[in-house]
Amino acid sequence: MLKKIYCVFDYKCNNNCLHCAVDSEKNCGKIITNQNIDKFIDSLKNEGDFELEISGGEPTCKKEFLYYIERIVQKYPNTRYIVLSNGRNFSNKWLAEKLAELNPLSVLIPIHADTAELHDRISQSPGSFEETLQGIENLYDCDVQVGLKTVINKINYKRMPHLIEMVIRRFPNCPGITINGLDVQGKALKNDKIICINIRETIPYIEAAIDVAKKNGLYITLYSIPPCMVKEKYRKYIGRKHKSNIFTKTPTTDMLKVTLMYGTVDKCKGCVYYKTCTGTWYSYFDYYGTDELKPIRQNND
Ligand code: SF4
Repeated sequence: MLKKIYCVFDYKCNNNCLHCAVDSEKNCGKIITNQNIDKFIDSLKNEGDFELEISGGEPTCKKEFLYYIERIVQKYPNTRYIVLSNGRNFSNKWLAEKLAELNPLSVLIPIHADTAELHDRISQSPGSFEETLQGIENLYDCDVQVGLKTVINKINYKRMPHLIEMVIRRFPNCPGITINGLDVQGKALKNDKIICINIRETIPYIEAAIDVAKKNGLYITLYSIPPCMVKEKYRKYIGRKHKSNIFTKTPTTDMLKVTLMYGTVDKCKGCVYYKTCTGTWYSYFDYYGTDELKPIRQNND
């Protein structure tokens, strides 16, 4: 079973997204020193085979970002690592080229909408849309595998089909995109009136987005969107439970097995999807309840 280790270099971020579950503003007070990171990298020698997820905040905002990636790669040459980034700093071609030399498994980048106006409204950072798209383009030019994702919310949900069209137009070689349900915690909870929406209201736009992706051969997957909320023909696009053990071992914490923050609820028992379904975020159920769920008794429900 794959062991994933999640790592934070720093909580600073050059975006200030309305729906950020990490709430980097709040976490900015948590200091991770270079000494913490050095110790963390050394301690990975006891972990056997693992995949590393490097996140933040925005990991590329750490001045020593490349230095630490290089150290990890030199010390653990067989380790696969993924960088979770908003992509903006890769608009600097030099940074994209340098990361490409260090051979990441992939870089995972969110796009919030198909227009600068909407994307920047969600990121609360003027100019972020253009920089993110330029960053993605630079990484593709350097043959880095880039996975795209979007988190559906009250501001962008009606634009989902347009977002998929934009991705197809601008990044014809994009291997795939995921649409993700909203985790109602951190800043998403603080900004609930402007960002939160019932999943059921978003479904017609998600289904239309799948139609656009399918027509154009773009691989699309939904996460944290329960299968019982979409029409049967769209259920095959929903991601299933993975068999991996996820751990956090940030530079300032010990190794902790991650308790999944999403899943099914009691009401789901008896549903044909119960064993494989990832349900949605528990924070979403806390906020909206479970009335939207309609357990499926057989597959033509
Ligand atoms: S009822 Fe529960 S198990 Fe069934 S599809 Fe919905 S969320 Fe998944």
